[in-house]
Amino acid sequence: MDLKDLYRDVILDHNRKPRNLGRLAPPARSARGHNPLCGDQLTVYADVDGGVLREVKFEGTGCAISVASASLMTDAVRGKTTAQAEALFGEIHDLLTRQGAEAPASLGKLAALSGVREFPARVKCASLCWHTLRAALAAEAAPVSTE
Ligand code: ZN
Repeated sequence: MDLKDLYRDVILDHNRKPRNLGRLAPPARSARGHNPLCGDQLTVYADVDGGVLREVKFEGTGCAISVASASLMTDAVRGKTTAQAEALFGEIHDLLTRQGAEAPASLGKLAALSGVREFPARVKCASLCWHTLRAALAAEAAPVSTE
């Protein structure tokens, strides 16, 4: 199976059956992302405990690539530390934007995202969820007080 087939199969599969759809209640962190070029809108939720992403979910509407990418991402970062998730963000960013970048074997199915490079207009669709996750992880948990 060449990369084009892998790309198509993985994107179709994760678009048809998105993994980890849903929301997480606070104190889980969340952030909203919007890609106005395509109309993709996502909210990413991350339950972080002890520096580890215990649970990651997303909801929203968007094109096949944005939904598949979010589905792949939530699968990939669950159980990882925030530092590992940040490193993965770097690898994905490289894969999406640098022509000729080789996907490290450790990326697994995420390697399929390299196929998006052939469609430069769709790179933002694929990276939206990653930027949104990053924003969620960077945000301070909002202090809630009824006093
Ligand atoms: Zn899109």
